[in-house]
Amino acid sequence: MKTVGILGGGQLGLLLANSLSRLGAQVVIYDPDAAAPARKVAWKSFQAPWTDLSALKEFAALCDVITYEFENVETSGLKKLDGTTPIFPSLAVLTTTQDRILEKEFLRDNDLPVAAFYVVESYEDLAKIEDGITFPCILKTATGGYDGKGQFVFEHYADLHNFLKDRPLPSLRGVVEEKLPLHMELSCIVGRDREDHDCIFPVMQNTHSSQILDTTLMPAEISASLAATVKDLALTAAEKLDLVGLLTCEFFVTKEPAQSRSAIEVDGYYVFVNEFAPRPHNSGHITMNATSLSQYDLLARILLDVPVVEPRLLAPGFYCLANLLGDVWLAQGTDSGPALDLSVLKYHSDIVDVVIYGKASARPGRKMGHVVSYGATADSAIAAVKHLRSELGAAPKKEDLIASPDSRHEK
Ligand code: ADP
Ligand code: MG
Repeated sequence: MKTVGILGGGQLGLLLANSLSRLGAQVVIYDPDAAAPARKVAWKSFQAPWTDLSALKEFAALCDVITYEFENVETSGLKKLDGTTPIFPSLAVLTTTQDRILEKEFLRDNDLPVAAFYVVESYEDLAKIEDGITFPCILKTATGGYDGKGQFVFEHYADLHNFLKDRPLPSLRGVVEEKLPLHMELSCIVGRDREDHDCIFPVMQNTHSSQILDTTLMPAEISASLAATVKDLALTAAEKLDLVGLLTCEFFVTKEPAQSRSAIEVDGYYVFVNEFAPRPHNSGHITMNATSLSQYDLLARILLDVPVVEPRLLAPGFYCLANLLGDVWLAQGTDSGPALDLSVLKYHSDIVDVVIYGKASARPGRKMGHVVSYGATADSAIAAVKHLRSELGAAPKKEDLIASPDSRHEK
């Protein structure tokens, strides 16, 4: 039996572990967090810091292959391992994609379309470039950001001036990029095996709320030529990175070329690569329902050396995913992860999946689960998840439930 090590034990690790075990493998999770949800499906798990070399060595010795479900893994300890156990995607891919400066430079150096950006390595750098920057712009820290964390929007010069005065971070390393007038956001997942066979999922269309992914539609409602351009960019990036594993590419689409002249124009739209995640992606949860292989199945096959085939859409309509953040739990009056009241589901036959990640406690903005709908049209699929989510969030508080379960619906 093959053993796969996963660095990170969040929901992506949990769902990957399920696909690995369906192919007969066993999973070892490594995560500094004792409450990481993937531990419950693991054969063994480690709780140690990313830099604990002896724990990392012990972990690697158990595994035939290692992957990660989180790109903010510190690589210093991993780089000291002797390399006997392969890590896919490679540490070189992880190093590039976990650092926004290296990632943007990779895009620029490989002629991939990217929003105009400046690299800043200090507050002094930021002060120096202030004359050249066009507002609005966004400062993104080079490392450690996700769900919009580590990002500062400067609408006007005064915002930048105040930021420089306050110096809210102990030190500064990052990129300042133009804030684009977004028309839509897309993502696309590529898989590539050890023999360089690649395959690609249908393009997804994403909306964000407070910079956190809110909904994903598959397939994206875009022209065939725009979809082909996006797929081509994702495949090119994977090839240039010499990827083995999964690569999720996030894209911005505008209706104007913006400051950056590198955007690719298709059908009157302009396409930019935003960022990469060398792992399964939140938007890709939808592949568990919408395609013949999920993103987790595809990565499991690549890690276990099982042949890969192109994932196909399973039905002609549209699938829509909506995240369930901790806010839904809080709206129900609970912060306990397992306690979500799902009773309204009985009124939602167009919901084809509900996944709760099993995190112990709910906090605002924390990804706790997701739902997926299927509809004949994009609008109906989107409306279905939004309707369910609003009803879940509006579910009666515990006290009301004890008095009269489902009273709202039995009228
Ligand atoms: P992360 O997902 O790592 O937090 P992103 O760079 O993807 O960071 O930013 C999160 C979201 O913020 C994006 O999906 C987009 O909605 C918005 N955003 C980020 N950069 C820009 C930009 N240059 N112009 C407009 N919106 C942006
Ligand atoms: Mg992003």
